Amino acid sequence: MSASYPLPQRPESGGGHLAPLRFPAESTTPNSKSPVRWLTDDLLFHYQRCSRRAFLDLYGNAVEKAPPSDYLAKLRQDSAIHRSTILQEYEPLHRPLYPKGDWAAGAKATQDLMAQGVDAIAQGVLVADSAVEGIQLVSQPDLLIKQSGWSHWGNWTYTTIDIKLGKKPKLDYQVVAAFHAYVLARVQGMWPETSWLALREGKLYAVDLERQLLKLQETLNGCLYDLRQSEPPEVFISHSRCDLCHWFSHCYSSAKEEQHLSLLPGVTPARYVFLQERKLTTVEALAAANPQQLAPLPGFGEPVAEKLVHQAQALLGNCAIPRTFPHPPHTFALHPADLPSAEVELYFDIEAAPDQDLIYLHGVLVIDHRTGEETFHALLAESPEAEQTAWTQFLELVHTYPTAPIYHFCPYEAQTVRKLGQLFGTPDLVIETLLTRFFDVHKSITESVTLPVESYALKHIARWIGFDWRDEGANGAQSICWYNAWLETCDRTYLEAILRYNEDDCRATHRIKDWLTKFAQPFWYPQA
Ligand code: SF4
Repeated sequence: MSASYPLPQRPESGGGHLAPLRFPAESTTPNSKSPVRWLTDDLLFHYQRCSRRAFLDLYGNAVEKAPPSDYLAKLRQDSAIHRSTILQEYEPLHRPLYPKGDWAAGAKATQDLMAQGVDAIAQGVLVADSAVEGIQLVSQPDLLIKQSGWSHWGNWTYTTIDIKLGKKPKLDYQVVAAFHAYVLARVQGMWPETSWLALREGKLYAVDLERQLLKLQETLNGCLYDLRQSEPPEVFISHSRCDLCHWFSHCYSSAKEEQHLSLLPGVTPARYVFLQERKLTTVEALAAANPQQLAPLPGFGEPVAEKLVHQAQALLGNCAIPRTFPHPPHTFALHPADLPSAEVELYFDIEAAPDQDLIYLHGVLVIDHRTGEETFHALLAESPEAEQTAWTQFLELVHTYPTAPIYHFCPYEAQTVRKLGQLFGTPDLVIETLLTRFFDVHKSITESVTLPVESYALKHIARWIGFDWRDEGANGAQSICWYNAWLETCDRTYLEAILRYNEDDCRATHRIKDWLTKFAQPFWYPQA
């Protein structure tokens, strides 16, 4: 896998012979167990995010694939709307006609249109040999746009545009755009000047082909190699990329079964490579490791090394391990001032729709220890226009309890309060004074305790403590879908589901804060 095939040459100008992709000699024999024939841009895109995903998409048992969540369905719908809006700008468009999935027929129909010199082709198909026997590269750019220049067909060439919903030209978008340019160059005998990305808000981004072709070469090399193996790449659960993947249940069961180290917070793919080199690939082995031997490794350092070993020990013992400072010996890493208790405490959680730049709910749970009362306040924008009213109501509520600490989980609430203050012209002094009352329970717990959890997200910690949400499928992404469904249907069931979920988030934060306070007591106030 370390060897690489030559980078396709980019002619200076006027077209020229394009070097075919070549494989390292040791991997040019097709693997009879791996019948990959078409390497599509879609496959390459997913390969960049997870090599296992690309393998399973090709060879996995479709029964084990989960249907798309409401949130994923919403993203796909938003993406389709964005694509169709951009495509309208290029009308009149020509579309190749071919039976679905028949890439050879699609390529022929597209080349016929290109040979005619039509101005714009939507969802054309470009096919080129990969120089690996039996595997062809398939590119489906959203648009092929005619330009001046010289190609096989005469004094015109084409360039590609891919339409993406994202605001930024992410690296994986750019590599796929370079792939389109490469296959297009093979088809028309001329490199396009660039390959374009049409992003959200009408931004057009020109991909630096010189740069991205290097990355493309590396990615194609790995992809063609991995997809010719008989077994999928090793599972590695990373919640940020796996949570929306349709193979998640399948991969998660495998990871659980093998007690894979990726289920330990802090074990990143980069760190895992070093752990593998040291044969520390089981929870038991990592629990017995010496943090001082891990600390010098790149990307580790003392705190990370200690945390990883503690993480394995906590999991083995199903126990919480306090983090203490060595000087003076065994000082607990959390100070009482970081987690104050008061007669009245507020627990705060926001619901937002980032795609609409909208904060639609400020949920505040008021715990009055004097009376034992617990009251949940939902300061809700029932329509996007009511966002400012909900903000004002939130300010009024928190000023009703002017000295009560406000607990939240992760920095988002504090950041959003600052942002809304600017947006709605709330005086800086009001915001800064308010923020002195904010305490981030996530920060406190992650800095002071190692827990036997897979992640330090609210749900994982709260569930370990024994708290559970009333609606099993509730989460932030689902809440956004419910809010959109409320706007579309005016069915209050959706709003009720959002409020229940948000209240449970506030209650979970409360339970974690209480648990941590009790856990810290012996360190803060040791018995003589
Ligand atoms: S769940 Fe994660 S590891 Fe499995 S295929 Fe999807 S992204 Fe890859």
